[in-house]
Amino acid sequence: MADAETQREAVLDALDNVAERLAEEKEYLTDLDSAIGDADHGANMERGFGKAAEKREEFAEMEPNEVVKNVGTTLISNVGGASGPLYGGSIMFASQELEDGITAETSVSFAEAYLDKVKDRGGAQVGAKTMVDALVPAVHTYKKSIEQDDLPPLEALAKAVDAAERGVAFTVPIKAMKGRASFLDWRSVGHQDPGATSTLFILEELLETAEEYLDGEVDRDARAEDAVGRDE
Ligand code: ADP
Ligand code: MG
Repeated sequence: MADAETQREAVLDALDNVAERLAEEKEYLTDLDSAIGDADHGANMERGFGKAAEKREEFAEMEPNEVVKNVGTTLISNVGGASGPLYGGSIMFASQELEDGITAETSVSFAEAYLDKVKDRGGAQVGAKTMVDALVPAVHTYKKSIEQDDLPPLEALAKAVDAAERGVAFTVPIKAMKGRASFLDWRSVGHQDPGATSTLFILEELLETAEEYLDGEVDRDARAEDAVGRDE
């Protein structure tokens, strides 16, 4: 396991990467949310993670788990909407799993705790057209890859991101059962869920950061990359 200082740097770099990515994707996430929601998801995510990234100095002396916890509280106060408490509260809750540092094992516990909290708070299961549709396959794939298939964390994470990407594609043809989009009933069919999409972007940036710190590069599954099918 890397020392606490390296772990903290990795967490801070991940935060920067996520904030930067969500700022880049603001318009895209807004467009997705304008089709089946109220067009604020891009702004919500950019604001929340932007505020958290601005606190880099403040986080500089903290233990890695405390940084993660503080990212969660910052999101709770700054994201707003349905996604604020889901992202922020779940990150905050799951940060306890990192008290003994970040290892393959604790990262699995973190991912499971995060998913449990999102499901618990939001009450959505797979198929309700929410972020849960990206998270469930990602977390299950990550856990299985580490615990059963004995893959290195980086490869496990790459598989998890691929699984999330398929989950995002799965949100398109289904009807929303939770959140604002559910008000549209059948009219939500045919649109990609914004929260599942932002979850994927965050996971992609975690992978990007992990590649740097774990010193490796992994091939993403080309089929999964095609699944979201977005022209730049
Ligand atoms: P709001 O819907 O309040 O405007 P956002 O636009 O920021 O909030 O976030 C919308 C996203 O939040 C949705 O795309 C969906 O993924 C997620 N979401 C909404 N309600 C739930 C829920 N009950 N459980 C899980 N995710 C949810
Ligand atoms: Mg919205």
